[in-house]
Amino acid sequence: MEEKLMSLKNDAVSLILDASDEKTLEEIKLQFLGRSGRLTLTLKEITKVPLERRAEVGSLANEVKQSVEEAIERQKQILKHQTIKVRKQTLDVTNPGIKPPLGHLHLITQAMEEITSIFDKIGFTRVRYPEVEWDYYAFTALNFPENHPARDDWETFFTTEQTDSEKGQIILTPHTSSGQVREMERSVAKLRELARERSETGVDGSKDKLYSGPDLSIRMLNIAKCYRRQSDVSHTQMFHQFEGLCVGENISIVHLKGVLDYFVKSYFGENRTSRIRPYHFQFTEPSFEIDVTCGVCLGKGCKLCKAGWLEMGGAGMVHPNVLTYGGIDPKKYSGFAFGWGVERVLMMKEGIEIDDLRLLYSNKLEFLEQF
Ligand SMILES: [Zn+2]
Repeated sequence: MEEKLMSLKNDAVSLILDASDEKTLEEIKLQFLGRSGRLTLTLKEITKVPLERRAEVGSLANEVKQSVEEAIERQKQILKHQTIKVRKQTLDVTNPGIKPPLGHLHLITQAMEEITSIFDKIGFTRVRYPEVEWDYYAFTALNFPENHPARDDWETFFTTEQTDSEKGQIILTPHTSSGQVREMERSVAKLRELARERSETGVDGSKDKLYSGPDLSIRMLNIAKCYRRQSDVSHTQMFHQFEGLCVGENISIVHLKGVLDYFVKSYFGENRTSRIRPYHFQFTEPSFEIDVTCGVCLGKGCKLCKAGWLEMGGAGMVHPNVLTYGGIDPKKYSGFAFGWGVERVLMMKEGIEIDDLRLLYSNKLEFLEQF
């Protein structure tokens, strides 16, 4: 009896494993487990087994029945997966294709690219300077006195306790203006190098004196991340600024206003204008706040802007002390500088009021996909 059961099991399992479709499996099931199936009939014969061995044989019979049922179930699953695979592999070239979702640049990146290209057209070259910077370039060389509140660590991130005797502590740049003196130093060094090469012209190549030779012309656009210890709905710890610096002979406020108007019309539209208001900054003299006409009412005054103007940011004529720190003779050269927030001009352009500026950096697609 035991032998008969085991051979039935072997027969059934080998047939099941060979089955290549569900219909065959059903037939095998009927052949073994159906009402007059081979296994069913054998199970009925258990009554003929002597009583003392009946329990043992009975439990073996149940095991065999169970393993046949399981083998059928398993094979069914395998066949199902194979069918899916085959279906997937079938390529119908006449079907319309599936479009992969296409993203776009982050709106801050879009704004930076547009700003770069606008200034590029009037000769301002984009540069990159360190965002982890010496205190010297961020404050001292920009005419900030030792005790100025912006140097307080409530505003600025001081990264380590490492200090240089001349350049001070290492900080995260709180503004893009720290690129100004670096750009001046770079331009002066280049001109001195040239002067040394053609020493016969008599231009002084010495490093100790302020540069008053010919050909100094700076048109810099520094776009970078800035960091301040602030975080609320209208301030983020990290934000972006773009900084313009123009230095040359006889550069005046007229040039600043011209560049400003050019930018406002190129970026915001022909129907927008700008104005300058007196203000105070450490590194410019005179200094101004720049306003742009509101995009909604175009200067007439509305709920959004109240008086028709929106504040864009600061600008001014480069302070003679800053030119001096940059190694440039302020008696011969002058310049203007401006520093504006990328996030701010972006919102002014789009006419969007973002309730929480932190949304820009949350990577929420529902938000970003609107732009
Ligand atoms: Zn308005």
